[in-house]
Amino acid sequence: MSIRDGTAGAAGLDPGREAREAAIRELLPGSGAPLGETLAAVRELVEDTTFPTVHAWRQEGGKVLGHFQVYFPEELAHAAGMLPVKMRGGTVERREADSHFGSYICSVLRTTLELALTGRLVPDLFVTHPICDAARNLAGIWARNLDVPVEILYFPQNPNSAFSADYLASEYLRVLEDIEDVAGRRVSTDDLRGSIRVFNENRRLLRALYRIKREEPWKLPVDEAYVLMAVGGIIPREQHNALLSELLPRIQERDARRQDRMRVVFEGGFCEQPPLDLLGAIAEFCYVVDDDLMIGLRWILSDVPPHAADPLAALAGAYLEQSSYSPVQHDLRKPKEKMLLERIRGSGAEAAIVAAAKMCEPGLDEQVAYSKALEEEGIPFFLTEFEEQMRNFSHLQIQLETFVENHLLFGETAATGGQR
Ligand code: SF4
Repeated sequence: MSIRDGTAGAAGLDPGREAREAAIRELLPGSGAPLGETLAAVRELVEDTTFPTVHAWRQEGGKVLGHFQVYFPEELAHAAGMLPVKMRGGTVERREADSHFGSYICSVLRTTLELALTGRLVPDLFVTHPICDAARNLAGIWARNLDVPVEILYFPQNPNSAFSADYLASEYLRVLEDIEDVAGRRVSTDDLRGSIRVFNENRRLLRALYRIKREEPWKLPVDEAYVLMAVGGIIPREQHNALLSELLPRIQERDARRQDRMRVVFEGGFCEQPPLDLLGAIAEFCYVVDDDLMIGLRWILSDVPPHAADPLAALAGAYLEQSSYSPVQHDLRKPKEKMLLERIRGSGAEAAIVAAAKMCEPGLDEQVAYSKALEEEGIPFFLTEFEEQMRNFSHLQIQLETFVENHLLFGETAATGGQR
């Protein structure tokens, strides 16, 4: 390990951080504003493809680490005083990026590049991962077309190997050294421990948010829950923690009445994100009681040991041993069908919406396996595809309404095909 012990941590010696946080606070809804107003403002921030919070951070001299889906240990960037930003594409017209990809490539890869080529979201360091065949070339395309340092973080191909934890800790150290170069600071063990504590708190709050979805879903429709979670990918995590701490109790006090809606799990949002209006359309008929939307923000399921002698080893261990699942991680202990069934049973869902982003090979492959498992278990499911640029959901709404009625009114348990 080359990270230094001691308390003279980089993040602690950052005189500009207060100004940067103040600049972002200006863009966030004020504490105590009416709940509806606050949720609308958060949604606006999440949908804003000019990324005002990221620009505010940079204008005040801050550095930004952009990381592509699905998971990145954001504690590494945070410990170096950088703003970790989740690069997950966006609903933008593709004018420049399309010429860099073949036509069979999913949208999120293109729009992430489009945002950078058009200057809307350009990080100081871009980290990507070879999560699928399509994403394998992302680093090369970025390096050729943008004047931004690009790093590839290689997660263990075989998480079941006895060496995977040591390997991953050394990989985190390699990437951390590049982060230090870009941040212009050294990161100490105590910096990392401090960052782990901030992110543990964030994970705790996100678990509380999902508990509301599970236990009282009529108080928190899926689209509102989504923006509350997703905004964490574009603001400092301390501010996300403050926002969630203020809003969650107020959401729990909401005077919302329980309705006769189907409890469903939404599966298929691990990488490219469905449009918010699609989630809104689902919320009209269903309570989404669990999902894999932006799963990278919730990848680690419990606290990472905050006092570990080696924080990088603790983070690597958590990635392997305390984590969720996705079609792009191949862990033999986590067969995806079994994990989906657990998610459905753990949340008391009656059915599943099994979605996949268009042209997403890992997602479409899993759809087949999920369908088979759900059929065998007699759990109703609705299959659909989406693209982040979708605008019209009327067809999907009619099919979903029919699916829900068949189940609720006629008790149909056989699998029902949805939009494909
Ligand atoms: S949406 Fe699917 S195909 Fe596209 S980058 Fe993500 S995992 Fe790969």
